[in-house]
Amino acid sequence: MPLTIADIYATLESPPNPRQRDAIELLDGPLRIIAGPGSGKTHALVLRALNLICCREIPPGRIVVVTFTERAARDLHDRIRLYANRLPAVPKQLAELNVGTIHWFCGVVLRRHHPTLRRYEPLDALGQKLFIYRRLNEICEDLRPGGQFLGRWRSKSSAVQGLAGWLAKVTEETITSVQLRASGDPFLEMLATAYERYRAALTESGYLDFSAILRELYDLLAGDHAALQKAQAEYSHFMVDEYQDTNYVQEEVLLRLAAPNYNIAVVGDDDQSLYRFRGATVRNILEFGDRLGSLGQQSRTVPLEVNYRSHPLVIQAYRDFMNDCNWISEGVHFRAVHDVVPDPTRQFGNYAATVGLPGTPAELADIVQLLIQRRAVQDASQIALLFYSVASDGRDVINALRQRGIECYAPRSGRFLDHEEVRHAVGVLWAIGGFGGDDPERPDGGPVSETCDWASTCLAHLRRHPRAADLCAWVDMKRRDIDALQRGQDISASLLDLLYEALRYDPLRGFLGDPIAATNLGHLTSLLRVFQQQFGFHVVHGGNKQYLPWALWTSFFYLLHSTGVDDVEKEESAPLGMVQVMTIHQAKGLEFPVVIVGSLDRTARSSKEMDQLLGPLYRRGAFEPTQRVTEFDWRRLFYVGFSRAQHLLIAYSDGAPHRFFPPMLQRIPRSGAVTWDDIVRLLPREPIVPQKEKPVLSLTGHINVYRRCTRQYEFFNEDGFAPSFAAQVFFGTVVHQTIEDIHRHVLDGRPEPLEEALIEQYFQRNSELLRRRGIHPLAPNQREEAKAHVLRYFNTNRDRLRNVIDTEVEVMLEQDKYVLDGRVDLIRSDDGALEMVDFKAQRRLDQGAEFDAYSDQLALYWHLLDERYGKRPDRAILYFTGEEQAHQARVLVDLSRADIRDVVRRFDETAQLILARQFDLTHYPSRDTCRACDFKHYCRRAEADVGQ
Ligand code: SF4
Repeated sequence: MPLTIADIYATLESPPNPRQRDAIELLDGPLRIIAGPGSGKTHALVLRALNLICCREIPPGRIVVVTFTERAARDLHDRIRLYANRLPAVPKQLAELNVGTIHWFCGVVLRRHHPTLRRYEPLDALGQKLFIYRRLNEICEDLRPGGQFLGRWRSKSSAVQGLAGWLAKVTEETITSVQLRASGDPFLEMLATAYERYRAALTESGYLDFSAILRELYDLLAGDHAALQKAQAEYSHFMVDEYQDTNYVQEEVLLRLAAPNYNIAVVGDDDQSLYRFRGATVRNILEFGDRLGSLGQQSRTVPLEVNYRSHPLVIQAYRDFMNDCNWISEGVHFRAVHDVVPDPTRQFGNYAATVGLPGTPAELADIVQLLIQRRAVQDASQIALLFYSVASDGRDVINALRQRGIECYAPRSGRFLDHEEVRHAVGVLWAIGGFGGDDPERPDGGPVSETCDWASTCLAHLRRHPRAADLCAWVDMKRRDIDALQRGQDISASLLDLLYEALRYDPLRGFLGDPIAATNLGHLTSLLRVFQQQFGFHVVHGGNKQYLPWALWTSFFYLLHSTGVDDVEKEESAPLGMVQVMTIHQAKGLEFPVVIVGSLDRTARSSKEMDQLLGPLYRRGAFEPTQRVTEFDWRRLFYVGFSRAQHLLIAYSDGAPHRFFPPMLQRIPRSGAVTWDDIVRLLPREPIVPQKEKPVLSLTGHINVYRRCTRQYEFFNEDGFAPSFAAQVFFGTVVHQTIEDIHRHVLDGRPEPLEEALIEQYFQRNSELLRRRGIHPLAPNQREEAKAHVLRYFNTNRDRLRNVIDTEVEVMLEQDKYVLDGRVDLIRSDDGALEMVDFKAQRRLDQGAEFDAYSDQLALYWHLLDERYGKRPDRAILYFTGEEQAHQARVLVDLSRADIRDVVRRFDETAQLILARQFDLTHYPSRDTCRACDFKHYCRRAEADVGQ
């Protein structure tokens, strides 16, 4: 019996407003939702998905929800699961909901339907830069005699950045090299050849960058009608978030997949369109109705106009700022009709919520100090300073704040490599894998040599450290070991392994006690892993040691050093006690009690050159008039900045503001004319930690990892260290993934016969993908051993596979502060009983602490499947794939005496410790666990006498 929408609304704290209800309930045909800032669009998207699943009974696997970032996709998926769990009947197979970025989703469709691109490896932004960098000579350098890099860019790093942008735009606008050549423009003619060479190099290497994924799918859907029909039949409803920042090819692909019913809801705000420089076009959202009209479809528009975020004066300020602009040119409106109004149900304080501050950085810093000292905010991190560029516009304000003892958190200032701990680690890498001081081959002069100078300065700085003697002796020894390598010899370690080993020594060792420094070192390990993947440096040996310094310093670190690296931004809020400083782009989607927007005096500019040169080749021709683009973009950018403020907006400039701002500044009071006492007194105090959705803790990825070793959990789950060999991860993951493939094959009714050869293909693909992620078996025989586990399972269960009912069934338990999440398989046995099966890639266990933990997990699954999901398994089985015989592999777990309250209490204890960030090591895990752990040198497990 399906639920009604009223059943869903009954589980909410407050019902949706009428417009939100339209966004949730208009499910058929094309719909455009224009969602102003703070208007609850994510809430509406979540409820729309549940309406489809629970009331319309659309299988989750047929619903697609795409977002702009992976983080937004994760948040959305978690919220859908959380809301679903509160319903009277929890929907099944929620894990199959297609929630992710557009690139992720299009990659899924491409892999499933493209005849030759099923195994491609996606290239992220850093991977793409490295890819172009390594091949720049073959792609473009020789195209212009006497000139460098198509005669346009003087340095290699700027050529990489610039070329990547042009190649992406050509790809996304579906321009061909033939068109580029026929343009008659010398630069575009050269770009045609560069484009062909780049695409050929990508294909040859098995890579696709983000734009190429979309373009390949576009070509497939346009040229292969059978593939198009199959893909269309798989999905019935689409939701596209941040539609104002999509590009041409993205819209084309999504509309083709949504045909012929066009059940597609696009959500966005043309006023918040920010990514023209990345190829996005606001015309997708503005002309959605016309585009659908050209396809014979009538679309509807729902504006979400009630703002639940900001004080009415803040809303008034940014609404008027947009209305100051004439958005009509030659009779065409370049802004959708919509408004923003304050929440009518809320009371707001009577104080000056918008203030203009023309003044010096010192004057601004004084006001920030006053707000902090007089506790107008509960914590300094509730104040955000937003600039167009933090590096050029924010430096003086940051210095002025520091002079007053106020620290700033500025993760996007591109200064990651300046951190003390990162510089020490770079010094270690330079000592081990850098050019020697008198190396005749060391680059001399130019930007590459600057990178080498910087790295050698890092090493000199490290050598001067009073506690670095042991570390320096160790790096010198490693260097000698590498220098002595002959062909055919290796040091059985990668650079990443060596960096992990260096953590054993001070001063690096000491940094692991500081959460921010540890996170920075963790981020460096993930960058280094990208290097190892891209350059194939998995082990340092006699054959690659000569090439190592070139690859590491004149390519990898040169690129990072010359373009700058941003700090890691943790998913949770910024560090307490620090004012947040970021770009306006970075602030999109966020909100803060107090927002100070700077850069008002900056010269307005917008990237127009690409549109000017390539515009005539676009399928739809030009859109916004060139002479208006700068103002349109600049207003949209500052609209985003201003609308982040909840209770107080300060518009700051330390020079004459650009001509777009004076009308707005004249309407709001100046800082000298407001009563700060009133502001301080009346400003609402928000909780320090913003109300976040409950964290989802996975039984395997969080609870079990934490129980295995609290310290390992902290390093990998909290600090973001990238596993090096990750032997245990490899083994268990490849076995589980391949067994899941076997089950999926049966459940999907795929036509190919399920034979050993096909399973080996599945295994091969999974282990190759893990390898590319840098996850390797510890020893060569481990891979064969893992394959044996899978094949043994297949051969001893061939006849039972047709009975697989469901694989990776998701079960959740919602507690006050968190949600527990697990997955289990369901198989019907020959006697008709329903078996719940949990696979373990190891030898059989039927007693002991580990077995008890597995039993707890099964007891929880059992309870949840029965109570929340209406499935009552007859038997609970632990299946140990390490056993030869099926009867040995299957262990029937007796749950009849399990007290579910006790089981839940035990899980709760672990979850509470994780949430309380209790990572102190009270006892060591097994020696085998430590032996396979990247931190074994740091922990000195072998030397420790702490009890086991
Ligand atoms: S070496 Fe052992 S104690 Fe140290 S983090 Fe790894 S598993 Fe934990």
